[in-house]
Amino acid sequence: MDRQLLISSLIEYAARNHRSTDVVARASDGSVVRSNWGEVGERSRRLAAALRDIGVGEGDRVATIAWNDHRHLEAYYGITGIGAVLHTVNPRLHDEQIAYILNHAADTVVFVDPDFASVAARLAPHCPLVKQWITLDHHYEQFLSANPLDEWPLLDEWSAATLCYTSGTTGNPKGVLQSHRAVVLQTWGTCSTDGHNVNSGESVLLAVPMFHVNGWAIPFASAMCGAKLVLPGSDLSPEALVDWINSESITLSAGVPTIWLSVVQHLARTGLDIPTLRRIAVGGSAAPRSLMDTLEDDYGVFVAHVWGMTEMTQGSSGRFTNRVERLPRDEQRRRQAMAGREIYGVELRVVDDEGHDLARGGPTPGELLARGPWVAGGYFGIETPDSHTEDGWLRTGDVATLDDEGYITIVDRAKDVIKSGGEWISSIDLENAALGCPGVLQAAVIGLPHERWGERPLLLCVTDGPVDASIVLDHVVAAVPKWWLPNDVVFVEDIPLTGTGKIDKKLLRARHAGHQWTDAGSA
Ligand code: AMP
Repeated sequence: MDRQLLISSLIEYAARNHRSTDVVARASDGSVVRSNWGEVGERSRRLAAALRDIGVGEGDRVATIAWNDHRHLEAYYGITGIGAVLHTVNPRLHDEQIAYILNHAADTVVFVDPDFASVAARLAPHCPLVKQWITLDHHYEQFLSANPLDEWPLLDEWSAATLCYTSGTTGNPKGVLQSHRAVVLQTWGTCSTDGHNVNSGESVLLAVPMFHVNGWAIPFASAMCGAKLVLPGSDLSPEALVDWINSESITLSAGVPTIWLSVVQHLARTGLDIPTLRRIAVGGSAAPRSLMDTLEDDYGVFVAHVWGMTEMTQGSSGRFTNRVERLPRDEQRRRQAMAGREIYGVELRVVDDEGHDLARGGPTPGELLARGPWVAGGYFGIETPDSHTEDGWLRTGDVATLDDEGYITIVDRAKDVIKSGGEWISSIDLENAALGCPGVLQAAVIGLPHERWGERPLLLCVTDGPVDASIVLDHVVAAVPKWWLPNDVVFVEDIPLTGTGKIDKKLLRARHAGHQWTDAGSA
């Protein structure tokens, strides 16, 4: 049958079949708003009608600068449902970056959380194309049309639906545009058992910001299957997350490793438990094995460790296959520490510098390439000749190996890998090893110039009290080849993160550029 894959079909399904299933949100004024899929459906259509009334049409970009709440969820559906493009903007970026992004996308309407009202005021003079800035409070309520849109329009499934700019550690941010078709397909992947297994039996806590990678498609997936959805607003502190888990009987969540590291530290400090939580999807950067061990052994939470990118959302599966299910615990954990395995829909290859395929199961890492129906084929409004291979594979910029079951081991970002004496050292492996040392709360490894080896690793640690460098290094050397051992350990107050929560290695390399090696470790 000739039916287009449209985002509006997700909210219509949820509103029809799961109308009284809870959607709970912390609004910007701090209040908890209890709603349901029926109401989200109705209010999304009121938003759609209001946007049409002010002339927003197919292909027009409409931006959001917002936390995870019910109004942002309505924007996900109200904007895309009429064929306009939902452009989620990361509020943690600098003013100049946000202005660049809004101008580049030519957004005409911007929905802004009251927390960012001052950002909007500063940006407005620099964003002449924006006709309306609508604050997500009573202004938004006034903006909603009294009469909901009768019916969602039939759109072409290949038409643009969402736009998200990548963090762009070098150069300007690049916009990843996803079609309705791509979003619906990746949402199906997210609901699949080998995906995040979002399903109608779950109570889902969205600890992934909705401004990044469509909240990993979970706002869409929760509607596709009618799961209960909890949107925690601006507060992603461990205290708040643990409160939500216990007050809303959360069974499933997702988030970057740093969020879950802080949650387990909070649980250990307070003696609290999270008995309802069964599974979490962790990705966005490498999850240390120690985190997975603690979550599973102490709290009974299974960690699906996955890899993905703005360019494709979820790119791997964290579920154990039947064969892995029957392996000894340690063997399972070894696989869990990898970044998931190839999932249907995102084909993966690893190639050397000349673009030749590297054998699966081999030891040699190379650049990870990806292709598939929900992988971006280019970037919005710019030519990026190097972003894809000549035959159309996305160059992920990740250095990785693949094993013969499709498990991905991310060695590093190509720009973060440390080249010592011509050989590669994985900063990720070193960080994970350091995080296994008691007392180490955060760890970052960067490569710095070294006279003899070209580059050597420097380990930076945040600890919860005095910890001896030699103890940390003993821990690390037990987990990695001896010649990888960081030459020095520096204890720091904090480790800077980028707008999307990854370690800001560019800033760290600049901060420690003048480091004098003492070679406390070996080289
Ligand atoms: P972004 O598009 O901002 O979400 O960043 C995508 C990048 O995050 C990937 O290219 C990887 O470098 C990194 N990443 C995502 N998931 C993982 C993971 N499980 N392990 C290691 N790195 C990851």
